[in-house]
Amino acid sequence: MNANIVLLPGDGIGPEVIRAAHRVLVAIGEKFGHAFQFNEQMIGGIAIDLFGDPLPEATVAACKASDAVLLGAVGGPKWDDPNAKTRPEAGLLRIRKELGLFANLRPIVTFPELLDSSPLKRSIIEGTDILFFRELTGGLYFGPSGCETLPDGQQRAYSTAVYTTSEVDRIVRMAANAARGRRKKLTMVDKANVLEASRLWRRVSAKIMQEEFPDLEYEVVLVDSMAMHLLSRPTSFDVVVTSNMFGDILTDEASMLPGSLGMLPSASIGSDGPGLYEPIHGSAPDIAGKGIANPLATILAAAMLLRHSLHLNAEAECIERAVRKVLAQGHRTADLVPRGTPSIGTDAMTDRVLDALHGSA
Ligand code: NAD
Repeated sequence: MNANIVLLPGDGIGPEVIRAAHRVLVAIGEKFGHAFQFNEQMIGGIAIDLFGDPLPEATVAACKASDAVLLGAVGGPKWDDPNAKTRPEAGLLRIRKELGLFANLRPIVTFPELLDSSPLKRSIIEGTDILFFRELTGGLYFGPSGCETLPDGQQRAYSTAVYTTSEVDRIVRMAANAARGRRKKLTMVDKANVLEASRLWRRVSAKIMQEEFPDLEYEVVLVDSMAMHLLSRPTSFDVVVTSNMFGDILTDEASMLPGSLGMLPSASIGSDGPGLYEPIHGSAPDIAGKGIANPLATILAAAMLLRHSLHLNAEAECIERAVRKVLAQGHRTADLVPRGTPSIGTDAMTDRVLDALHGSA
């Protein structure tokens, strides 16, 4: 296969973890006989410094012309001035919009070797394997909002959750299709006892599930209950679909189950065109440049890229197996061990993954 992959290293540890994932993708290309072309572009703070824009036109054009995009992270204290004309995160929001990425996929999988890194009990989290679908371009974050001053001098602010039938339809359908290839269970999370927008979600998804996915187990859970169930019975969920804000909060809550931010990838995809793949962690300015960042989340994001954008399942599994093997061998970066315990750096961890990759089928 020929594929054109855009790399957006960004800021902080972004370039370090992207370099690691790039090495892994090159190795996979060689192992399976694919010709991957890589095109590195600017995003975030570094693009503000060089071009005054967190998302230069050249980056947008390269991403649109690509098969898939792999992003490191953006942001850092240098660009945190609240009065600044633009911020690194603006580049991230715009690239999602430019590429029409309406679904954010976040797998939450606990690794047997890291069960004790989680703040939760082993007996609760062991076997957790959830795939979240968070709607990314609608709802409360994009509806009409404003702030006005009332005659009595008070301020009145509002943000509105707005969804259309088709916005709900496309993500529920995508999540249900994913559930069909997994353990055949879909959980839809809403707040239909209070919110009108949630009641639309409930009607649209009930119709789709009844008519098109009768083979799946389907349940609806209120978001407040879900916040509890995620911590008390995470293994009972397979695929979870929900709106933008609920997904934002629940996926961050769920990210604590596996124990470290440094292990979790995510994907943002649309109906067609390239998907955007990234670790869920930020630019970690506190450790940038020290060579100690955990590259595994970005390496696992590269595996998601192979699976979802290039349909290279065997190649994706090969990377995921290599990561599990390295963890089983006991290799750990600093974020995965108690302070003071010996650990290895970004490059050494990547070398171990490459060794495992060469050794596995
Ligand atoms: P962060 O995820 O960057 O870091 C949180 C903590 O986790 C830090 O102690 C960091 O050292 C550690 N950490 C994160 N990734 C790690 C890794 N791969 N290996 C080892 N340790 C890791 O979150 P933050 O500190 O709140 O944000 C830092 C900057 O990143 C901010 O400017 C924020 O806006 C930005 N950010 C960007 C994204 C993105 O690009 N998608 C996401 C979140 C935050």
